[in-house]
Amino acid sequence: MGNLGVPELLIILLIILVFFGAKKIPEIAQGLGKGIREFKNATREAESDGNESAPALPNPVASITCPSCGKAASAEARHCPSCGTSFEAKTCLKCKTVNRPGNKFCSACGTQL
Ligand SMILES: [Zn+2]
Ligand SMILES: [Zn+2]
Repeated sequence: MGNLGVPELLIILLIILVFFGAKKIPEIAQGLGKGIREFKNATREAESDGNESAPALPNPVASITCPSCGKAASAEARHCPSCGTSFEAKTCLKCKTVNRPGNKFCSACGTQL
């Protein structure tokens, strides 16, 4: 259908007109529109099916382990409820290296964080 231009469509319309008569055109157009709509619905359903399977998987980061005391904490927690260690990544003030949460010293330059 990609090569169909306006002249080709007009020719097809003319052929339809000759074969079926002008009265049939709304019916055919309706049928075509219905077919296209059904086709679009089918493709949308197929797409949504593919999308639904991915988020259906359980979130693997439901909880995090404290790097300091090893106890599990909520993934939304910013500090360990047991020892108070921050779970946020720390940026080294000296070299700007982003260190893993719980690091007390910069992994790049050894500066205390
Ligand atoms: Zn802790
Ligand atoms: Zn550093």
